Amino acid sequence: MNDLIPLVNKLQDVFNTIGSDQIDLPQIVVVGSQSSGKSSVLETIVQKDFLPRGNGVVTRRPLVLQLVNTHLGLMPPTSNSSDSAVNDAPDRAEFLHLPNKQFFNFEEVRKEIEAETARVAGQNKAISRTPIHLKIFSKNVLNLTLVDLPGVTKIPVGDQPTDIEKQTRNLILDYIIKPNSVILAVSPANVDLANSDSLKLARQVDPESKRTIGVLTKLDLMDAGTNSLDILSGRAYSLKLGFIGVVNRSQADIQSNKPMEEAFKSETEFFQSHPAYRAISHRCGTNFLAKTLNTILMNHIRDKLPDIKAKLNSLIGQTQQELTSYGDPTFTGKAHRGSLILQLLTKFASDFVAAIDGTSAEIST
Ligand code: GDP
Ligand code: MG
Repeated sequence: MNDLIPLVNKLQDVFNTIGSDQIDLPQIVVVGSQSSGKSSVLETIVQKDFLPRGNGVVTRRPLVLQLVNTHLGLMPPTSNSSDSAVNDAPDRAEFLHLPNKQFFNFEEVRKEIEAETARVAGQNKAISRTPIHLKIFSKNVLNLTLVDLPGVTKIPVGDQPTDIEKQTRNLILDYIIKPNSVILAVSPANVDLANSDSLKLARQVDPESKRTIGVLTKLDLMDAGTNSLDILSGRAYSLKLGFIGVVNRSQADIQSNKPMEEAFKSETEFFQSHPAYRAISHRCGTNFLAKTLNTILMNHIRDKLPDIKAKLNSLIGQTQQELTSYGDPTFTGKAHRGSLILQLLTKFASDFVAAIDGTSAEIST
């Protein structure tokens, strides 16, 4: 069943390349107020330091992040390498806007995100709707597509327009309104949940909260004597997919370059030794969040399979019609090249439908 996600990722690539958005593929979208810890949560899921994060306006363009596990399913296309060579390959990253460059140093990935953000959104805190597409290939990630978004803010700063709040809300809504988006609604534990921007936005597009998962950050920053047990156990606010508590690195940890493994260790220790969370520590923390996300995504894709298949079939039909309109396939010149691309595309789409049929059979048995 794990093979399903690389397959969908691959299809998404094809559609990105041909500049078409005809199939609405499932993805996980991270939403919340500014500095609630969205980018930090993404980083710990990926287990890499690669995102610009910190206090203030940091994430200023949507980041569509595709994680590809090089252990599972389809291998990423690497020329001149056997499968085992790919499995031993170091983690690497690629940007859609830099197709010929591979990144092996994730500090450089962060710098490229910052540079590419400034290139389109300017230097002074303005926000742009144009997404950055980044892919990370690693043995250590679960197969997920995640979207990091600018956070909700109330007051314009720098070059931000006076209606910045409305603009960011609309940008976020554009991503989460898609019925096949899974909403990762991040709320900081040190702010009352009644004021949570993420849950308010999520409820607008998912009133029955069928595709919203709550993430509670900053549990380490709560006032002494208070805890979030009522939220984490689902008594305070009902979400079908539940709430998961995490502890990310603090600003001081970022400044002292606290390594990810150490952050994981202290997070586990935090939950296991905390008098309120000890009993539920097995369903707290980033690791549990990553596993839960993978299960949610797989179930989500499985539910969408019939729909994706129907869309593909109609696409094949359309393409075949267009092919016929090109007439004699032996005709040389421009039209011939067009028909060749269409033929390849049709072949790809039919292969994909066949693969879906195979996977559906696997799931239902
Ligand atoms: P974003 O704006 O929602 O993407 O938030 P960031 O991930 O950039 O985090 C904002 C600030 O909050 C950073 O300084 C983080 O170090 C800090 N932060 C995020 N999560 C936690 C947490 O769980 N505990 C602590 N102590 N600090 C956190
Ligand atoms: Mg951010």
